[in-house]
Amino acid sequence: MSVYLDYNATAKVRPEAAAAVAWALETGGNASSVHAAGRAARAIVEDARGQVAALVGAKAPSVIFVSGGAEASALAIGSAVAAGFERILVGASEHDVVLENVRAAGLPYEIWPVDERGVADLDWLADRLRTEPRAQVCLMAANNETGVIQPVAEAAALARAAGGWLHVDAVQAAGKIELDFAATGADTLALSAHKLGGPQGVGALVAGPRTTLSRQLHGGGQERGYRAGTENVPGIAGFGAAAKAAAADLPAIAAQAAWRDGLAAAVARAGAVALGDGAPRLAQTLSYATPGFPSELQVMGLDLAGVMVSAGAACSSGKVKPSRVIEAMGRPDLAPFAIRVSGGWATTAADWARCGAAWAEIFDRHQARRRAKALA
Ligand code: PLP
Repeated sequence: MSVYLDYNATAKVRPEAAAAVAWALETGGNASSVHAAGRAARAIVEDARGQVAALVGAKAPSVIFVSGGAEASALAIGSAVAAGFERILVGASEHDVVLENVRAAGLPYEIWPVDERGVADLDWLADRLRTEPRAQVCLMAANNETGVIQPVAEAAALARAAGGWLHVDAVQAAGKIELDFAATGADTLALSAHKLGGPQGVGALVAGPRTTLSRQLHGGGQERGYRAGTENVPGIAGFGAAAKAAAADLPAIAAQAAWRDGLAAAVARAGAVALGDGAPRLAQTLSYATPGFPSELQVMGLDLAGVMVSAGAACSSGKVKPSRVIEAMGRPDLAPFAIRVSGGWATTAADWARCGAAWAEIFDRHQARRRAKALA
C-alpha cells in the first residue's frame, strides 16, 4: 500500500464529497432554470453555500462560487482598481496565483517581506500604510510549502485602520485550522475545494460587506452577477460536503502536529532543517531541507518506496523550481534541498512513521554513495 502525503498539492477526495458529486450529477438541472430540475440544482448550490460559509465563519450570501483558488484571488485582486486602490502590498511568500494576479492588475505593487521563520513583518506593513494608506494588502492565511500561519487578524486591523483592504488566500488554511472570516476582519478570502477533500475545479471567494468587486468573467449573471458561466453544481455539491466534513475533522487534523514533530525530530538527527520552525504552523505540514541531498532525489527515492511527497512547490508543469518562499526566508542555500510532507483527513500515524523510515533508508543510501564517490 502506498502512502499519500501530498495533501497540500491536492487532498484525497472525501467519501462524503464523492457521494455529493454523484448525487448532484444524478439530480441534473441548471441552477438558473426556473423549472423543477433547475430548482433542485439551485437547492444543492444554496445548501453548499451554507456549508462553505459555516467552515469559515461567514454568512452564506458572502460566498461566491468560482472555479478554484486561482479564480478567487484573481477576482479579489482584479477588483483592486475598481475599488479605488492606488497600490498593492503583497506578501513575499504568497502563492504564484496571488503574486501573478497582482502583477497583472496594473497597479504599482511592493513585496512585503517575511522574517527568517516565514512570518510577514507587521512593522513593515504598519510603516508602509502610514505613507500608502489606500492599498490593497494580500496575505495568505497559511503557506502551501512551509505551513507557516500568518498574522491575518493583525494585518486586517492595520489595513482597515488605514482605509485599505485585506485579501486573504486561505486555500491551504481552510479545513486545517479554525477560520473566522467575520472576526478576522479580512475583506476577501479565497478558498479551494480540492485542498480540503472536495473535487478539483471549484472554489469560492468570500467577500465582506465593504468590498467592491468587479467581475472578471463576462456574458452571464451567475453568482449574483460576480461571474459568468453555468454553475458547476456537482463540484459545488462536493465542495459543500467536504467543507462540512472538514469542519468536523479540525481537531483530528490539529492532532497531526505530534506525528509531524516526530518526523521532524527523526530527520533533524540526519542534519535536516525544518523550515518555519518556531513559527505557528499547520499541524499536517512539514517542510525540511537536508543540505547536500537534492529535493528531486528525495522525492524520487520516496516515490520508489511508495511514499508520495513534493519537492518545493509543485507547479503546473510538474517541474520543480527553486522555492521563492524559502528564498524569501533568507535561506536560498536550502531551497534545492527542501521537500514538503503534508497529511490530511485520511492520514494515520503509521503513514508519517513509514515516511520517516523510508526517508532514513534513502538518506543512508545517498550518504553511502557520497562516501564511495569521495573515496574513488
Ligand atoms: N493558493 C494556494 C496557497 C495554493 O496552494 C493553491 C494551489 O496550489 C492555490 C492558491 C490555487 O488553488 P486552485 O488549485 O484551486 O486554483
